[in-house]
Amino acid sequence: MDIQFLGTGAGQPSKARNVSSLALKLLDEINEVWLFDCGEGTQNRILETTIRPRKVSKIFITHLHGDHIFGLPGFLSSRAFQANEEQTDLDIYGPQGIKSFVLTSLRVSGSRLPYRMHFHEFDQDSLGKILETDKFTVYAEELDHTIFCVGYRVMQKDLEGTLDAERLKAAGVPFGPLFGKIKNGQDVVLEDGTEIKAADYISAPRPGKIITILGDTRKTNASVRLAVNADVLVHESTYGKGDEKIARNHGHSTNMQAAQVAAEAGAKRLLLNHISARFLSKDISQLKKDAATVFENVHVVKDLEEVEL
Ligand SMILES: [Zn+2]
Repeated sequence: MDIQFLGTGAGQPSKARNVSSLALKLLDEINEVWLFDCGEGTQNRILETTIRPRKVSKIFITHLHGDHIFGLPGFLSSRAFQANEEQTDLDIYGPQGIKSFVLTSLRVSGSRLPYRMHFHEFDQDSLGKILETDKFTVYAEELDHTIFCVGYRVMQKDLEGTLDAERLKAAGVPFGPLFGKIKNGQDVVLEDGTEIKAADYISAPRPGKIITILGDTRKTNASVRLAVNADVLVHESTYGKGDEKIARNHGHSTNMQAAQVAAEAGAKRLLLNHISARFLSKDISQLKKDAATVFENVHVVKDLEEVEL
């Protein structure tokens, strides 16, 4: 599982950073990629990765500001051009209005898609658990921005323990139905009378990962709730230390506030994105340094950077 950042800039694209989008790559887990936000030019960024558009099965939108959604019509249309590949359905989750934005853009441009889209719109009153599959649960909660905006908490379900086949073979268990029994937690007795305790050969279940991806926001308790014990928190850092007042006025956060959220939530790792173009590379290292005084495991991400979880 990993996250690849497709656009890490705030508001408008710059030469170094495109507008917001990131891919949560769940290829090993479910052979799918989930996109979070889709700013203009996201499809161009995807061309520079190994991500195949038809693997994108779900798109989660945090809010309807242009720098988070203007890439949708283009991406959705290009996704249809993989003619010799199987056309797979797509789910789009986002605030009320996202369906009308997408369908209007496609209609007026005469675009017809050979796959089906399913929209899952929500508003203030219909948040909470927005998706549950056999492997993942996704929650959304309202943040504090200038328009309705949400953050997402993606929770992987705990992973079953795995069977240590090598050790079983070494213990004299013949490969076959006995393996299945032991895997199901059943103790067995071999022909020579040896007792095999299943628990000795199955590793403990591993806790699933928690990934928190926030939209644009002022510092708010909702962010902390979404990020409780998260393995990784992706938080905007439109502004730097000392800019708290201007951040508040524009509905955004500073690096220090993002670090406070990560610390309060007990998150393990903080990734800062949505970086203003006025920050030059020396400012970026300062952004990180300052934030690290509050939360040590912090990193300012770049476009196309891949972070393994
Ligand atoms: Zn915004």
